[in-house]
This record gives sequence, structure tokens and C-alpha cells, in this order.
Amino acid sequence: VKERGRAGYRFFKEEMNSSFANDALLESHLRRAIELNELVVFYQPQVDLRSNQINSFEALLRWNNPTFGFVSPANFIPIAEESGLILQIGDWVLEQVCKQLRDWQNKGFRQVRIAVNISPKQFKTECFAKKVGDMLKKYGIHSSSLEVEITESAMTNTSETLNILKELKNIGVVISIDDFGTGYSSLSYLKRYPIDIIKIDQTFIRDIELDEKNAAIAKTIIQLAHNLGLEVVAEGVEKNQEVDFLKGVNCQKAQGYFFSRPIPIHEIVENYMN
Ligand code: C2E
Ligand code: CA
Ligand code: CA
Ligand code: CA
Repeated sequence: VKERGRAGYRFFKEEMNSSFANDALLESHLRRAIELNELVVFYQPQVDLRSNQINSFEALLRWNNPTFGFVSPANFIPIAEESGLILQIGDWVLEQVCKQLRDWQNKGFRQVRIAVNISPKQFKTECFAKKVGDMLKKYGIHSSSLEVEITESAMTNTSETLNILKELKNIGVVISIDDFGTGYSSLSYLKRYPIDIIKIDQTFIRDIELDEKNAAIAKTIIQLAHNLGLEVVAEGVEKNQEVDFLKGVNCQKAQGYFFSRPIPIHEIVENYMN
């Protein structure tokens, strides 16, 4: 399945690239994706490097379309964002994740947390925080079981951003800053906003045991997170040597192909929940 998925992805990249006509075609298919049950949420475990335990997962959206095959979120999220479809899709993902948390809580797994990616447009909608709060209530989920991942690009330097983040904080969800280090003004955001977790972008983790610049940047971010009392997650960890390096500099958590690719829920349950 993995191989077919990747082949589909390659075909899409080469044949479809992002000309306007193809984007429009993709958009029209995407419009019906939810009702046709073509969207599915995969999960990737995050490993605690001290205890080797897993108690959190990142939800990553997948689109399995009969015409295009598996379309990567890197390709369809921008189109969804552009067309406004991301709002509907974002609501859907949030609901799936809350349902999943409910199911786990019923089965006695109460300490599990799921992180959801929030697009900039979704984050900026009028009632985003309220929607999150309502969804948690609807499924009776403890707010600390849900994490929202927001990229630096969504966190513009405005009072609007501050207000939304404060509302989320009041609700009690965990707030993480995604792709940390790839945007601008990251440091002032850390000072201004009520952030709980920093996710170090995978470009800084690549060959960290050999690449002196990556090593210096990652170490500095980890130290910064510690000094500010924030949790830190290294993304895109693919090799044993990267894990060893991260353990050596006291990075709390790691996520990446070395541990597991994002996988369907039944595989998560089989591998980690019994
Ligand atoms: P992201 O949030 O930075 O997610 C991390 C991406 O890195 C994921 O790609 C994940 O599959 C991939 N990844 C994880 N471990 C490794 C590794 O060891 N090596 C490498 N090379 N890659 C790794 P994916 O699933 O294709 O998602 C791409 C982007 O699409 C995400 O980047 C996120 O920005 C967006 N996305 C995915 N799901 C959602 C969603 O539900 N809502 C929104 N708004 N955006 C989403
Ligand atoms: Ca993310
Ligand atoms: Ca990321
Ligand atoms: Ca990213």
C-alpha cells in the first residue's frame, strides 16, 4: 500500500504540477472529498526520548482520490487554503480527532494526546477558539488531550493573534508552534504568546550528527525551550545517529520515520494501544 501510495504521489507531481487548470480540477474533486469519504486521518507517534514511551500523536490528513491516487497534503492543503475549503476540512479533522480521543478515553487510555494542524485561515476565523471548545464539550474530552499546532506564518504580530491564543489557553488546549525556525520573528512570538511546545523543523534535524550548523541551531532551540520552560519536539527524525544526538542534548521528544511513518488508526491501535 505504501509503495502504491508513493507511486501515486509521484504521478501526481509529474503529470499534474500546479498549473491553474489542474488546480481547478483538483479543487472540484476536493470539494466532494469529505462526502465521498476520501479523506482519512493518519497518525504519527511522538516518542519521549527519556522514557521511550509514546503518549502523543500528530494527526496528518490523507486524501485518497480514485482519479489522482494518494494526494499529498503538501499539494492539496494550499488549494484548500486558497479556496476556503480548508475551513470545512479543518472542522472535519478536528471532529475525527475528538471522536478518536473519546474512543480511547472510553477504553481507558486517558493520558493520550493528539496534535492537530491548524491552517492560518482556520486559525483566523472569527470563532475558532469557541469551535474548539464546543467540540471538546460535544465529545466530553479533557482539553489537555488536544494539542493545536500553529505555524509561525499564522502567528502574525497582531492583537488578534494574541486574543485567539489566549482564548485557546483559557480553554486549556496545548499550543505548539510548528516548523519552528523557518518563519520570522520567532523569538518575539515566544515572548508574547502563551505557547507550550516548540516543534523544531525537520530541516534543522537532518544529519544533525554531522552538520555543524544544524547541530548548533537545534541545540540552541532546545536550550531556549528549556530556559523558557517549554516542551520541545524534534521533527523528521530518520536515523539512529540523529536520535543519539538529540538524547545527548536533552531533547524531550522526537517524531519521524525512524520511529514510525504516519499510519492509519488501526495500525496505531495494534502497535501502541494494547
Ligand atoms: P507538518 O505539519 O510539518 O507535518 C510534518 C510532515 O513531515 C508530514 O508530512 C509528515 O508525514 C512528514 N514527516 C514525518 N516524519 C518525517 C521524516 O522522518 N522524514 C520526512 N522527510 N518527513 C517526515 P505530510 O503528512 O505530507 O504533511 C505535510 C504538511 O501538510 C504538514 O506539515 C502540514 O503542514 C500539512 N497538513 C497535514 N495534515 C493537515 C491537516 O489536517 N490540516 C492542515 N491545515 N494541514 C495539514
Ligand atoms: Ca505539524
Ligand atoms: Ca512541522
Ligand atoms: Ca511543515
